[in-house]
Amino acid sequence: MIIIDEEKIFDEIKKRKAVSVTLNGPDGILPKVQETATKIMKRFGIPAYVLADTTWGSCDLNSAGAKVLGSEVLFNIGHTISLETLEKNVVMVDAFDDITFDKIARKCIDVLKGKTISLVTDSQHLPQMDVVKEILIQGGINVKIGQGKGQLNDGQVFGCEFYPVMETKDVVDANVFLGQSNFHAAGIALATKKPTYVLDPYFNEIREVTEFAQKMQKKATLAIYKAADAKIFGIIVGLKEGQLSKTTALKFKKELEKEGKIVQLFALTDITNDRLMNLKGIDAFIQVACPRISTDNQFDKPVLSTPQANALLKVLRNESIDGYLQIPHWL
Ligand code: SF4
Repeated sequence: MIIIDEEKIFDEIKKRKAVSVTLNGPDGILPKVQETATKIMKRFGIPAYVLADTTWGSCDLNSAGAKVLGSEVLFNIGHTISLETLEKNVVMVDAFDDITFDKIARKCIDVLKGKTISLVTDSQHLPQMDVVKEILIQGGINVKIGQGKGQLNDGQVFGCEFYPVMETKDVVDANVFLGQSNFHAAGIALATKKPTYVLDPYFNEIREVTEFAQKMQKKATLAIYKAADAKIFGIIVGLKEGQLSKTTALKFKKELEKEGKIVQLFALTDITNDRLMNLKGIDAFIQVACPRISTDNQFDKPVLSTPQANALLKVLRNESIDGYLQIPHWL
């Protein structure tokens, strides 16, 4: 069950004497966010809007949405980061999943006994890390937890940021991810090139995502080589507040023009194949917003992320692109 730190929300409302608030969170916890909004309205008699657009990460808060609604504060729920707040009107609120990993951790021992592993998770399962670590050690697994950096806590990853597992990759046999997210686990496998397992407590299943990640890498590399033949590029700046990278976009423009390519600049909030179909005369795109848009979706034309675009420039200069995704941060 998802537990939202509602006390923090109630305290902030009192402290700020807020007369209108907005709440948002990842799709999976929206029903819980709705319940919290209902409680706020009953308890304080103020409007509590659920901002139901996507919020994929702390890079995608939609604080502008809260401002348009006239709310003094946006409670962004479920993207636990090591920083308290990012903007004045935004309060980051923890939401943890209280499901236990005891059963699945014991299954993991059957598979990985005697090995050294890097234990890692997403925001929602951070409190279970120490308990699972203890069970695995008792079962004969040597456990490492890599250090956090920037917004990341120890043993925590985002979909594009992998510092803890990059720190441990040379001393472990495998990565073990706590949770259900193949999305995070595949990123870990791609960045570290190590066997990576998901310990899924809901299905009581241990599944390996290494092969799936290899397929993603092949697809990403194929897109780079297809883009190398393109003449006209569209470079897309993402309009989500934490994904706005105009400097990177302009750097790619300059570098591609040096290689004789023609570049048009675009800006989009949501970068989807449907939106790109409206744009004519472009052979390939580079988007400098979320790297996972390129690696995890299907597009009719090549749509490269930042690390893929860096690799493209190397291809155009006849340089090696080895290890272009084996970096701690894909931005
Ligand atoms: S850029 Fe994409 S992968 Fe990275 S944190 Fe934001 S939503 Fe997640």
